[in-house]
Amino acid sequence: MNNSVWIACLYPNKCAACGEIIEENKVLCDYCSIVVNNIDFRSFCTKCGLDKDGCRCKFREFRFKGIAGAYKNEGTAKTVYYSYKMNKRTELASFFAKSVAATVKRVFRGVKFDAVCSVPTSLRSKFRHGFDHTDIIASKLADELGVKYLTGILRVRAFKRPQHGSSSVKRLENVMDKYYTVERIKEKRILLFDDIYTTGSTLDEVTKELMFAGAYEVYCVSVLTTSLNKFGEGNNGN
Ligand SMILES: [Zn+2]
Ligand SMILES: [Zn+2]
Repeated sequence: MNNSVWIACLYPNKCAACGEIIEENKVLCDYCSIVVNNIDFRSFCTKCGLDKDGCRCKFREFRFKGIAGAYKNEGTAKTVYYSYKMNKRTELASFFAKSVAATVKRVFRGVKFDAVCSVPTSLRSKFRHGFDHTDIIASKLADELGVKYLTGILRVRAFKRPQHGSSSVKRLENVMDKYYTVERIKEKRILLFDDIYTTGSTLDEVTKELMFAGAYEVYCVSVLTTSLNKFGEGNNGN
């Protein structure tokens, strides 16, 4: 028996959602792959990123051209993403990057992106989780799509309160002037990545900064989309 076979016997690969032992190259077992909360983009509005029944385009206009998410922020997808983020399971980053890339190719078919950029993570969050969870996925997403990754262009100001549990109005106030760019952007069409989409306030604010720095158009994509109730409040926090 060679070393890799021994390792596979001692530390078998387990489903990231339910823990069942699975083949080495998989992330989810067959059951979890079926029940994972993929977003059916045909029933979602690509302007506000929400279920067509809950579309808020009449009430609010965003600066970004389009928004899409790979999964709903619930069930299996939520469990696996939080396991990645909270337990620093960096081996799951490629899985999410591939899911997000597939979403981009389906939803924004025919759109040619010049670069991928990600919403910057605060120092507080990097310190708390021990790694930059959005940066890792965004750089792998750029590789999957074969476009340049713009890193370090966006910065986040310190001393703003976290978004957890805030109402949409509070979130809007919290993100205003929170982000800034440190260089001119030469690329025209940017794909902006954030891990979780809730009210769109953060992505809209970052879009404003990117356009101010020279971007012509910004499209957004996330791993998880939180469904909102009629008052515009997220059901799942963050
Ligand atoms: Zn499973
Ligand atoms: Zn809409």
